[in-house]
Amino acid sequence: NKQVVLKNYACGFPKESDFEVTTTTIKLKVPEDSKNAVLLKTLYLSCDPYLRGRMRYTPVTDPDFCSYTLGSPISGFAVATVVDSGHPDFKKGDLVWGRRVGWEEYSLVTTPECLTKILHIDVPLSYYTGILGMPGITAYFGFFEICSPKKGESVYVSAASGAVGQLVGQIAKLMGCYVVGSAGSKEKVELLKSKFGFDGAFNYKEEHDLDAALKRYFPEGIDIYFENVGGKMLDAVLLNMRLRGRIAACGMISQYNLHQPETIQNLTNIVYKRIRIQGFVVMDYFDQYSKFLDFILPCIREGKIVYVEDIAEGLESGPAALIGLFSGRNIGKQVVKVTDE
Ligand code: NDP
Repeated sequence: NKQVVLKNYACGFPKESDFEVTTTTIKLKVPEDSKNAVLLKTLYLSCDPYLRGRMRYTPVTDPDFCSYTLGSPISGFAVATVVDSGHPDFKKGDLVWGRRVGWEEYSLVTTPECLTKILHIDVPLSYYTGILGMPGITAYFGFFEICSPKKGESVYVSAASGAVGQLVGQIAKLMGCYVVGSAGSKEKVELLKSKFGFDGAFNYKEEHDLDAALKRYFPEGIDIYFENVGGKMLDAVLLNMRLRGRIAACGMISQYNLHQPETIQNLTNIVYKRIRIQGFVVMDYFDQYSKFLDFILPCIREGKIVYVEDIAEGLESGPAALIGLFSGRNIGKQVVKVTDE
């Protein structure tokens, strides 16, 4: 059983050498003493920025956010086939997506409540790591529940070409909003405009004055900011929010590898502009998955929403794919294909 194991806790920017790909032997059966468990064959692994938080020593005890155990495979969201099941809801051959799946060829999941059966297979299976999985739910509920959008409002999305951002922008366009996104390369900026239908896009790495860049695209200000990056970008956005604007604090990837988070200078804007800034965690919306599917599946089938993935081949490519999120190497949702059969 090939595995991606964490060798040491990451310090600063994570490195490929923080991981090791090793092989162990396992029996392809649910052990007698793990009655409810489900044994999975991993098909696709999801590379997600939050895994960085688990690659450091933290006192957090929540099983989805706690530190990884050194010398053991890392885990996260994945798509898999059931090989053997001790749980009545799952049987051999079922396709599932869910969390707490090891970065290994075969993974024993002892919390089957974290798995969801895949019922729609007319769409690519890998989509269940992205548009039909955790990032999709994040974009949908983050936008509709946290941003309270209204037709015609101005929406700004950072890390806009990524797993979450590309969806937020497209959903906002469907809602009739004016949408601008930022990303870290020319190619990504092109994708935002030509493929995802953003009204405008810019490469934040080429703008030495982010405030001026935002003023160019939002001369009358921003109603909604979907925050994926934090730091200097958040500071510039605060200067450009409109009265009663909303900020969905989804993530702050620019801060995840810093020893000392950057200080935000422009917080007083929140007061006099009556800005609502609210954080959220996608897990709180998992019980509304079927509502989300009812919205997103027809959008995909009718071509109203498209999804770009960046698929790395083989478990060995996992460490590079995962750390690539922090340098923007990925174009679209970063997936690792372990096998497709
Ligand atoms: P992406 O697919 O967008 O990949 C990460 C991207 O972030 C990179 O491609 C890169 O794009 C950008 N990035 C990396 N480092 C920096 C930096 N220093 N400054 C600015 N941009 C940077 O990831 P996701 O869509 O999966 O996640 C986006 C955000 O949403 C993250 O902050 C994540 O933690 C958060 N999230 C939160 C959830 C929640 O429940 N609240 C759930 C899921 C995700 P570029 O080339 O444009 O720089």
